[in-house]
Amino acid sequence: MFDTLSDKLESVFKKLRGQGVMTEDNVKEALREVRLALLEADVNFKVVKDFIERVREKAVGTLVLQSLSPGQQVVKIVHDELVALMGGGEDNSLDLAAKPPVSIMMVGLQGAGKTTSCGKLAKLLKSQRRKPLLVPADIYRPAAIEQLKILGRQLSIEVFDSQADQKPVDICSKALKYAQLSGFDTVIFDTAGRHQIDDYLMDELVQIREAAEPREILFVADAMTGQEAVNVAAGFDERLGITGVVLTKLDGDAKGGAALSIKAVTGKPVKFVGLGEKLDALEVFHADRLVSRILGMGDVLTLIEKAQSTFDTKEAERLQKKLKKSNFDLDDFKAQLQQLKKMGSLESIMGMIPGMGKMMKQMQGAQPSEKELKRIEAIIDSMTRQERANHQMINGSRRLRIAKGSGTSVQEVNQLLKRFTEAQKVVKQLQKLGPKGLMKGMGK
Ligand code: GDP
Repeated sequence: MFDTLSDKLESVFKKLRGQGVMTEDNVKEALREVRLALLEADVNFKVVKDFIERVREKAVGTLVLQSLSPGQQVVKIVHDELVALMGGGEDNSLDLAAKPPVSIMMVGLQGAGKTTSCGKLAKLLKSQRRKPLLVPADIYRPAAIEQLKILGRQLSIEVFDSQADQKPVDICSKALKYAQLSGFDTVIFDTAGRHQIDDYLMDELVQIREAAEPREILFVADAMTGQEAVNVAAGFDERLGITGVVLTKLDGDAKGGAALSIKAVTGKPVKFVGLGEKLDALEVFHADRLVSRILGMGDVLTLIEKAQSTFDTKEAERLQKKLKKSNFDLDDFKAQLQQLKKMGSLESIMGMIPGMGKMMKQMQGAQPSEKELKRIEAIIDSMTRQERANHQMINGSRRLRIAKGSGTSVQEVNQLLKRFTEAQKVVKQLQKLGPKGLMKGMGK
Protein backbone atom coordinates (compact mmCIF):
# COMPACT_ATOMS: atom_id res chain seq x y z
CA MET A 1 0.00 0.00 0.00
CA PHE A 2 1.33 3.41 -1.00
CA ASP A 3 4.69 1.80 -1.73
CA THR A 4 6.43 4.74 -3.40
CA LEU A 5 5.38 7.22 -0.73
CA SER A 6 6.34 4.76 1.94
CA ASP A 7 9.79 4.13 0.46
CA LYS A 8 10.48 7.83 0.07
CA LEU A 9 9.44 8.76 3.59
CA GLU A 10 11.38 5.88 5.06
CA SER A 11 14.54 6.99 3.31
CA VAL A 12 14.10 10.62 4.45
CA PHE A 13 13.74 9.49 8.04
CA LYS A 14 16.60 7.07 7.82
CA LYS A 15 18.87 9.89 6.75
CA LEU A 16 17.57 12.10 9.50
CA ARG A 17 18.11 9.48 12.16
CA GLY A 18 21.62 8.88 10.94
CA GLN A 19 22.61 12.47 11.61
CA GLY A 20 24.25 13.03 14.96
CA VAL A 21 23.37 16.67 15.28
CA MET A 22 20.09 18.06 14.16
CA THR A 23 20.19 21.55 12.77
CA GLU A 24 17.45 23.70 11.41
CA ASP A 25 19.01 23.17 8.01
CA ASN A 26 18.79 19.43 7.94
CA VAL A 27 15.23 19.49 9.24
CA LYS A 28 14.44 21.90 6.44
CA GLU A 29 16.04 19.62 3.90
CA ALA A 30 14.15 16.62 5.26
CA LEU A 31 10.85 18.48 5.11
CA ARG A 32 11.56 19.54 1.56
CA GLU A 33 11.85 15.86 0.68
CA VAL A 34 8.69 14.98 2.63
CA ARG A 35 6.89 17.72 0.71
CA LEU A 36 8.03 16.34 -2.63
CA ALA A 37 7.08 12.82 -1.65
CA LEU A 38 3.57 13.95 -0.71
CA LEU A 39 3.12 15.94 -3.90
CA GLU A 40 4.29 12.99 -5.96
CA ALA A 41 1.76 10.84 -4.13
CA ASP A 42 -0.89 13.19 -5.52
CA VAL A 43 -1.80 14.83 -2.24
CA ASN A 44 -3.66 18.12 -2.67
CA PHE A 45 -1.19 21.03 -2.97
CA LYS A 46 -2.74 23.18 -0.27
CA VAL A 47 -3.00 20.26 2.11
CA VAL A 48 0.72 19.60 1.65
CA LYS A 49 1.62 23.22 2.18
CA ASP A 50 -0.31 23.52 5.45
CA PHE A 51 0.95 20.14 6.60
CA ILE A 52 4.61 20.99 6.09
CA GLU A 53 4.13 24.32 7.82
CA ARG A 54 2.63 22.65 10.90
CA VAL A 55 5.37 20.05 11.05
CA ARG A 56 8.07 22.71 10.64
CA GLU A 57 6.70 24.83 13.47
CA LYS A 58 6.48 21.86 15.80
CA ALA A 59 9.86 20.48 14.80
CA VAL A 60 11.62 23.77 15.39
CA GLY A 61 9.90 24.17 18.77
CA THR A 62 10.88 20.65 19.75
CA LEU A 63 14.51 21.11 18.87
CA VAL A 64 14.74 23.95 21.32
CA LEU A 65 12.95 22.05 24.05
CA GLN A 66 14.58 18.67 23.77
CA SER A 67 17.75 17.65 22.11
CA LEU A 68 17.38 13.93 22.71
CA SER A 69 17.19 11.88 19.52
CA PRO A 70 15.85 14.71 17.41
CA GLY A 71 15.54 12.54 14.30
CA GLN A 72 13.06 10.32 16.10
CA GLN A 73 11.15 13.34 17.22
CA VAL A 74 10.70 14.65 13.71
CA VAL A 75 9.43 11.23 12.66
CA LYS A 76 6.99 11.33 15.54
CA ILE A 77 5.77 14.81 14.63
CA VAL A 78 5.26 13.78 10.99
CA HIS A 79 3.47 10.66 12.19
CA ASP A 80 1.16 12.57 14.52
CA GLU A 81 0.41 15.27 11.98
CA LEU A 82 -0.39 12.71 9.29
CA VAL A 83 -2.78 11.02 11.70
CA ALA A 84 -4.40 14.37 12.50
CA LEU A 85 -4.65 15.14 8.79
CA MET A 86 -6.75 12.04 8.26
CA GLY A 87 -9.00 12.78 11.20
CA GLY A 88 -7.34 10.45 13.68
CA GLY A 89 -8.79 10.44 17.15
CA GLU A 90 -12.21 11.55 15.91
CA ASP A 91 -15.17 9.27 16.15
CA ASN A 92 -15.77 7.90 12.68
CA SER A 93 -18.21 5.15 13.53
CA LEU A 94 -21.55 4.88 11.75
CA ASP A 95 -24.50 6.69 13.23
CA LEU A 96 -26.83 3.75 13.74
CA ALA A 97 -28.38 4.63 17.06
CA ALA A 98 -31.61 6.09 15.64
CA LYS A 99 -34.91 4.24 15.68
CA PRO A 100 -34.70 1.35 13.23
CA PRO A 101 -34.69 0.91 10.35
CA VAL A 102 -31.66 3.16 9.92
CA SER A 103 -30.88 4.09 6.31
CA ILE A 104 -27.44 4.25 4.77
CA MET A 105 -27.15 5.69 1.28
CA MET A 106 -24.12 4.83 -0.82
CA VAL A 107 -23.19 7.30 -3.55
CA GLY A 108 -20.29 7.82 -5.93
CA LEU A 109 -19.11 7.59 -9.49
CA GLN A 110 -19.56 4.51 -11.61
CA GLY A 111 -16.90 1.89 -11.00
CA ALA A 112 -15.81 3.34 -7.66
CA GLY A 113 -16.92 0.18 -5.90
CA LYS A 114 -20.37 1.18 -4.61
CA THR A 115 -22.19 -2.07 -5.20
CA THR A 116 -19.31 -4.14 -3.86
CA SER A 117 -19.04 -1.89 -0.81
CA CYS A 118 -22.80 -2.24 -0.17
CA GLY A 119 -22.31 -6.00 0.02
CA LYS A 120 -19.23 -5.70 2.20
CA LEU A 121 -20.91 -3.28 4.57
CA ALA A 122 -23.99 -5.48 4.84
CA LYS A 123 -21.75 -8.43 5.71
CA LEU A 124 -19.93 -6.39 8.34
CA LEU A 125 -23.18 -5.18 9.89
CA LYS A 126 -24.59 -8.68 9.88
CA SER A 127 -21.53 -9.88 11.77
CA GLN A 128 -22.37 -7.21 14.35
CA ARG A 129 -25.81 -8.79 14.70
CA ARG A 130 -27.70 -6.22 12.72
CA LYS A 131 -30.31 -7.21 10.18
CA PRO A 132 -29.57 -5.34 6.95
CA LEU A 133 -31.69 -5.08 3.81
CA LEU A 134 -29.89 -4.28 0.57
CA VAL A 135 -31.71 -2.06 -1.90
CA PRO A 136 -30.56 -1.80 -5.52
CA ALA A 137 -31.60 1.62 -6.83
CA ASP A 138 -29.31 1.86 -9.85
CA ILE A 139 -31.62 1.25 -12.78
CA TYR A 140 -29.21 2.62 -15.38
CA ARG A 141 -26.21 0.31 -15.26
CA PRO A 142 -27.64 -2.81 -16.88
CA ALA A 143 -26.26 -5.38 -14.46
CA ALA A 144 -26.23 -3.38 -11.22
CA ILE A 145 -29.49 -4.75 -9.78
CA GLU A 146 -28.54 -8.33 -10.63
CA GLN A 147 -25.02 -7.77 -9.22
CA LEU A 148 -26.42 -6.79 -5.83
CA LYS A 149 -28.90 -9.67 -5.89
CA ILE A 150 -26.03 -12.09 -6.48
CA LEU A 151 -24.01 -10.55 -3.63
CA GLY A 152 -27.04 -10.85 -1.37
CA ARG A 153 -27.42 -14.53 -2.22
CA GLN A 154 -23.72 -15.14 -1.46
CA LEU A 155 -24.08 -13.42 1.89
CA SER A 156 -27.53 -14.77 2.76
CA ILE A 157 -28.70 -11.19 3.10
CA GLU A 158 -32.04 -10.17 1.64
CA VAL A 159 -32.03 -7.87 -1.37
CA PHE A 160 -35.13 -5.79 -2.13
CA ASP A 161 -36.73 -6.94 -5.36
CA SER A 162 -36.15 -3.79 -7.43
CA GLN A 163 -37.01 -3.80 -11.13
CA ALA A 164 -35.17 -1.79 -13.76
CA ASP A 165 -38.40 -0.19 -15.03
CA GLN A 166 -39.22 1.43 -11.68
CA LYS A 167 -38.22 4.96 -10.71
CA PRO A 168 -35.30 4.94 -8.25
CA VAL A 169 -37.09 7.18 -5.79
CA ASP A 170 -40.12 4.85 -5.81
CA ILE A 171 -37.89 1.84 -5.25
CA CYS A 172 -36.37 3.54 -2.23
CA SER A 173 -39.59 4.57 -0.54
CA LYS A 174 -41.12 1.15 -1.14
CA ALA A 175 -38.01 -0.54 0.19
CA LEU A 176 -38.00 1.58 3.33
CA LYS A 177 -41.65 0.70 4.01
CA TYR A 178 -40.90 -2.95 3.39
CA ALA A 179 -37.97 -2.80 5.83
CA GLN A 180 -40.20 -1.25 8.49
CA LEU A 181 -42.83 -3.94 8.07
CA SER A 182 -40.38 -6.83 7.93
CA GLY A 183 -38.20 -6.01 10.91
CA PHE A 184 -34.97 -4.96 9.20
CA ASP A 185 -32.92 -2.59 11.35
CA THR A 186 -30.61 -1.25 8.64
CA VAL A 187 -31.28 -0.43 4.98
CA ILE A 188 -28.41 0.05 2.57
CA PHE A 189 -29.30 1.87 -0.64
CA ASP A 190 -27.06 1.30 -3.66
CA THR A 191 -27.54 4.30 -5.94
CA ALA A 192 -26.59 4.99 -9.56
CA GLY A 193 -23.25 6.45 -10.57
CA ARG A 194 -22.01 8.30 -13.62
CA HIS A 195 -18.59 8.84 -15.08
CA GLN A 196 -18.65 12.35 -13.71
CA ILE A 197 -20.89 14.55 -11.60
CA ASP A 198 -24.04 15.38 -13.57
CA ASP A 199 -27.02 17.51 -12.61
CA TYR A 200 -29.64 14.96 -13.51
CA LEU A 201 -28.03 12.36 -11.26
CA MET A 202 -27.59 14.83 -8.40
CA ASP A 203 -31.28 15.77 -8.57
CA GLU A 204 -32.19 12.12 -8.42
CA LEU A 205 -29.91 11.54 -5.43
CA VAL A 206 -31.47 14.49 -3.62
CA GLN A 207 -34.91 12.94 -4.19
CA ILE A 208 -33.69 9.58 -2.93
CA ARG A 209 -32.24 11.29 0.11
CA GLU A 210 -35.68 12.69 0.86
CA ALA A 211 -37.35 9.31 0.43
CA ALA A 212 -34.76 7.26 2.31
CA GLU A 213 -34.01 9.71 5.12
CA PRO A 214 -30.49 8.36 5.54
CA ARG A 215 -28.52 8.80 8.74
CA GLU A 216 -25.42 8.18 6.70
CA ILE A 217 -24.59 9.21 3.14
CA LEU A 218 -21.32 7.50 2.35
CA PHE A 219 -19.36 8.65 -0.65
CA VAL A 220 -17.55 5.71 -2.21
CA ALA A 221 -14.22 6.88 -3.61
CA ASP A 222 -11.76 4.96 -5.74
CA ALA A 223 -8.38 5.59 -4.10
CA MET A 224 -6.62 4.86 -7.38
CA THR A 225 -7.97 8.08 -8.88
CA GLY A 226 -6.09 10.27 -6.40
CA GLN A 227 -7.02 13.94 -6.30
CA GLU A 228 -9.81 13.37 -8.77
CA ALA A 229 -11.60 11.35 -6.07
CA VAL A 230 -11.14 14.23 -3.66
CA ASN A 231 -12.63 16.76 -6.09
CA VAL A 232 -15.61 14.55 -6.82
CA ALA A 233 -16.15 13.96 -3.09
CA ALA A 234 -16.21 17.71 -2.56
CA GLY A 235 -18.76 18.03 -5.40
CA PHE A 236 -21.04 15.36 -3.95
CA ASP A 237 -20.72 16.88 -0.50
CA GLU A 238 -21.76 20.28 -1.76
CA ARG A 239 -24.86 18.98 -3.52
CA LEU A 240 -25.86 16.20 -1.18
CA GLY A 241 -24.11 16.62 2.15
CA ILE A 242 -22.15 13.42 2.65
CA THR A 243 -21.47 12.09 6.14
CA GLY A 244 -18.37 10.04 5.39
CA VAL A 245 -16.22 8.30 2.84
CA VAL A 246 -15.56 4.69 1.91
CA LEU A 247 -12.15 4.60 0.27
CA THR A 248 -11.87 1.58 -2.03
CA LYS A 249 -9.04 -0.21 -3.81
CA LEU A 250 -6.39 0.61 -1.26
CA ASP A 251 -5.03 -2.85 -2.04
CA GLY A 252 -4.05 -1.65 -5.50
CA ASP A 253 -1.20 0.68 -6.33
CA ALA A 254 -2.95 3.85 -5.22
CA LYS A 255 -0.39 6.54 -4.50
CA GLY A 256 -2.01 7.80 -1.33
CA GLY A 257 -3.24 11.21 -2.45
CA ALA A 258 -6.92 10.50 -1.92
CA ALA A 259 -6.46 8.90 1.48
CA LEU A 260 -4.27 11.72 2.70
CA SER A 261 -6.30 14.67 1.46
CA ILE A 262 -9.96 13.70 1.38
CA LYS A 263 -10.67 14.52 5.03
CA ALA A 264 -8.67 17.74 4.96
CA VAL A 265 -10.44 18.96 1.82
CA THR A 266 -14.03 17.87 2.48
CA GLY A 267 -14.03 17.87 6.27
CA LYS A 268 -15.75 14.47 6.12
CA PRO A 269 -14.07 11.45 7.68
CA VAL A 270 -13.04 8.26 5.94
CA LYS A 271 -15.13 5.64 7.72
CA PHE A 272 -14.16 2.48 5.88
CA VAL A 273 -11.45 1.28 3.54
CA GLY A 274 -11.83 -1.36 0.85
CA LEU A 275 -8.84 -3.65 0.56
CA GLY A 276 -9.84 -6.14 -2.11
CA GLU A 277 -12.59 -7.51 -4.29
CA LYS A 278 -13.67 -10.12 -1.79
CA LEU A 279 -16.60 -9.43 0.48
CA ASP A 280 -14.60 -9.50 3.69
CA ALA A 281 -12.12 -6.93 2.41
CA LEU A 282 -13.63 -3.93 4.21
CA GLU A 283 -12.10 -2.49 7.34
CA VAL A 284 -13.07 0.26 9.70
CA PHE A 285 -10.66 3.09 9.00
CA HIS A 286 -8.04 3.92 11.61
CA ALA A 287 -5.87 6.88 10.66
CA ASP A 288 -3.10 5.96 13.08
CA ARG A 289 -2.81 2.44 11.74
CA LEU A 290 -2.71 3.59 8.13
CA VAL A 291 0.01 6.11 8.96
CA SER A 292 2.04 3.46 10.73
CA ARG A 293 1.76 1.36 7.61
CA ILE A 294 2.84 4.25 5.39
CA LEU A 295 5.78 5.00 7.62
CA GLY A 296 6.79 1.36 7.53
CA MET A 297 5.99 0.64 11.14
CA GLY A 298 3.60 -2.10 10.25
CA ASP A 299 0.17 -2.46 11.62
CA VAL A 300 0.26 -4.85 14.47
CA LEU A 301 -3.04 -3.73 15.92
CA THR A 302 -5.04 -4.42 12.79
CA LEU A 303 -3.34 -7.76 12.52
CA ILE A 304 -4.26 -8.68 16.03
CA GLU A 305 -7.82 -7.50 15.58
CA LYS A 306 -8.16 -9.52 12.42
CA ALA A 307 -6.62 -12.50 14.12
CA GLN A 308 -9.01 -12.06 16.99
CA SER A 309 -12.09 -12.26 14.80
CA THR A 310 -10.86 -15.21 12.76
CA PHE A 311 -8.78 -17.29 15.13
CA ASP A 312 -10.67 -19.82 17.07
CA THR A 313 -10.34 -18.61 20.61
CA LYS A 314 -8.78 -21.73 22.06
CA GLU A 315 -6.02 -21.65 19.52
CA ALA A 316 -5.52 -17.91 20.07
CA GLU A 317 -5.22 -18.44 23.80
CA ARG A 318 -2.69 -21.20 23.28
CA LEU A 319 -0.66 -18.91 21.02
CA GLN A 320 -0.83 -16.09 23.54
CA LYS A 321 0.59 -18.35 26.21
CA LYS A 322 3.33 -19.38 23.84
CA LEU A 323 4.12 -15.80 22.98
CA LYS A 324 4.46 -15.04 26.65
CA LYS A 325 6.81 -17.92 27.19
CA SER A 326 8.70 -17.04 24.02
CA ASN A 327 9.08 -20.60 22.80
CA PHE A 328 7.34 -20.34 19.47
CA ASP A 329 8.14 -23.62 17.71
CA LEU A 330 7.38 -25.44 14.48
CA ASP A 331 4.09 -26.80 15.84
CA ASP A 332 2.98 -23.26 16.48
CA PHE A 333 4.18 -22.28 13.06
CA LYS A 334 2.00 -24.94 11.52
CA ALA A 335 -0.98 -23.93 13.63
CA GLN A 336 -0.39 -20.34 12.62
CA LEU A 337 -0.28 -21.18 8.93
CA GLN A 338 -3.57 -22.98 9.29
CA GLN A 339 -5.04 -19.91 10.96
CA LEU A 340 -3.61 -17.72 8.21
CA LYS A 341 -5.44 -19.78 5.65
CA LYS A 342 -8.64 -18.77 7.39
CA MET A 343 -7.65 -15.15 7.62
CA GLY A 344 -7.29 -14.45 3.91
CA SER A 345 -4.47 -13.72 1.60
CA LEU A 346 -1.10 -14.13 3.17
CA GLU A 347 0.17 -11.08 1.42
CA SER A 348 -2.41 -8.79 2.99
CA ILE A 349 -1.58 -10.17 6.41
CA MET A 350 2.15 -9.90 5.90
CA GLY A 351 1.80 -6.26 4.86
CA MET A 352 0.56 -5.51 8.35
CA ILE A 353 3.53 -6.95 10.17
CA PRO A 354 6.39 -4.55 10.77
CA GLY A 355 9.08 -5.04 8.18
CA MET A 356 7.20 -7.82 6.46
CA GLY A 357 5.82 -5.68 3.66
CA LYS A 358 9.36 -5.19 2.44
CA MET A 359 10.28 -8.78 3.01
CA MET A 360 7.30 -9.92 0.98
CA LYS A 361 8.44 -7.74 -1.85
CA GLN A 362 11.86 -9.30 -1.71
CA MET A 363 10.43 -12.77 -1.65
CA GLN A 364 8.05 -11.93 -4.47
CA GLY A 365 6.12 -14.93 -5.60
CA ALA A 366 7.31 -16.84 -2.59
CA GLN A 367 4.05 -16.74 -0.61
CA PRO A 368 2.80 -20.26 -0.10
CA SER A 369 -0.17 -21.21 -2.21
CA GLU A 370 -2.79 -23.67 -1.01
CA LYS A 371 -0.75 -26.48 -2.52
CA GLU A 372 2.46 -25.29 -0.92
CA LEU A 373 0.77 -25.03 2.44
CA LYS A 374 -0.12 -28.70 2.16
CA ARG A 375 3.54 -29.53 1.48
CA ILE A 376 4.65 -27.41 4.42
CA GLU A 377 2.24 -29.26 6.65
CA ALA A 378 3.52 -32.58 5.32
CA ILE A 379 7.11 -31.55 6.07
CA ILE A 380 6.31 -30.52 9.63
CA ASP A 381 4.31 -33.71 10.15
CA SER A 382 7.36 -35.74 9.13
CA MET A 383 9.43 -34.28 11.94
CA THR A 384 9.75 -35.88 15.33
CA ARG A 385 8.29 -34.13 18.31
CA GLN A 386 11.73 -33.09 19.52
CA GLU A 387 12.57 -31.66 16.15
CA ARG A 388 9.40 -29.62 16.09
CA ALA A 389 10.17 -28.22 19.51
CA ASN A 390 13.80 -27.47 18.70
CA HIS A 391 14.45 -26.83 15.03
CA GLN A 392 18.15 -26.28 15.60
CA MET A 393 18.71 -30.00 16.00
CA ILE A 394 17.54 -30.62 12.42
CA ASN A 395 20.89 -31.33 10.76
CA GLY A 396 21.68 -32.54 7.25
CA SER A 397 20.74 -36.19 7.72
CA ARG A 398 17.54 -35.30 9.54
CA ARG A 399 16.64 -32.94 6.70
CA LEU A 400 17.11 -35.76 4.21
CA ARG A 401 14.92 -38.08 6.29
CA ILE A 402 12.20 -35.44 6.63
CA ALA A 403 12.29 -34.72 2.91
CA LYS A 404 11.90 -38.39 2.10
CA GLY A 405 9.16 -38.86 4.68
CA SER A 406 7.13 -35.98 3.33
CA GLY A 407 7.74 -36.66 -0.33
CA THR A 408 9.51 -33.34 -0.75
CA SER A 409 13.12 -32.28 -1.31
CA VAL A 410 15.86 -31.18 1.10
CA GLN A 411 15.70 -27.81 -0.57
CA GLU A 412 12.05 -27.45 0.36
CA VAL A 413 12.81 -28.46 3.94
CA ASN A 414 15.55 -25.82 4.05
CA GLN A 415 13.18 -23.23 2.69
CA LEU A 416 10.58 -24.04 5.27
CA LEU A 417 13.08 -23.75 8.10
CA LYS A 418 14.15 -20.39 6.77
CA ARG A 419 10.56 -19.22 6.69
CA PHE A 420 10.05 -20.48 10.18
CA THR A 421 12.99 -18.50 11.54
CA GLU A 422 11.57 -15.42 9.84
CA ALA A 423 8.24 -16.03 11.54
CA GLN A 424 10.06 -16.40 14.84
CA LYS A 425 11.53 -12.96 14.31
CA VAL A 426 8.07 -11.52 13.79
CA VAL A 427 6.90 -13.18 16.97
CA LYS A 428 9.79 -11.54 18.78
CA GLN A 429 8.62 -8.19 17.42
CA LEU A 430 5.14 -8.89 18.70
CA GLN A 431 6.62 -9.69 22.06
CA LYS A 432 8.33 -6.35 22.11
CA LEU A 433 4.87 -4.82 22.34
CA GLY A 434 4.96 -6.23 25.82
CA PRO A 435 2.63 -8.88 27.12
CA LYS A 436 0.21 -6.22 28.34
CA GLY A 437 -0.13 -4.44 25.02
CA LEU A 438 -0.44 -7.71 23.18
CA MET A 439 -2.97 -9.23 25.52
CA LYS A 440 -4.98 -6.02 25.45
CA GLY A 441 -4.99 -6.14 21.68
CA MET A 442 -6.20 -9.70 21.82
CA GLY A 443 -9.03 -8.83 24.14
CA LYS A 444 -7.52 -10.24 27.30
P1 GDP B 1 -19.90 0.57 -8.76
O1 GDP B 1 -20.08 0.87 -10.21
O2 GDP B 1 -19.49 1.78 -7.99
O3 GDP B 1 -21.07 -0.12 -8.13
O4 GDP B 1 -18.64 -0.40 -8.66
P2 GDP B 1 -18.54 -1.97 -8.39
O5 GDP B 1 -18.95 -2.27 -7.00
O6 GDP B 1 -19.22 -2.70 -9.47
O7 GDP B 1 -16.96 -2.16 -8.47
C1 GDP B 1 -16.21 -1.91 -9.64
C2 GDP B 1 -15.00 -2.81 -9.64
O8 GDP B 1 -14.12 -2.51 -8.59
C3 GDP B 1 -15.36 -4.28 -9.46
O9 GDP B 1 -14.56 -5.04 -10.33
C4 GDP B 1 -15.01 -4.56 -8.01
O10 GDP B 1 -14.66 -5.91 -7.79
C5 GDP B 1 -13.82 -3.65 -7.82
N1 GDP B 1 -13.61 -3.25 -6.41
C6 GDP B 1 -14.48 -2.70 -5.56
N2 GDP B 1 -13.91 -2.45 -4.36
C7 GDP B 1 -12.62 -2.87 -4.46
C8 GDP B 1 -11.50 -2.88 -3.55
O11 GDP B 1 -11.53 -2.43 -2.39
N3 GDP B 1 -10.34 -3.41 -4.05
C9 GDP B 1 -10.25 -3.88 -5.33
N4 GDP B 1 -9.07 -4.37 -5.72
N5 GDP B 1 -11.26 -3.88 -6.18
C10 GDP B 1 -12.44 -3.38 -5.76
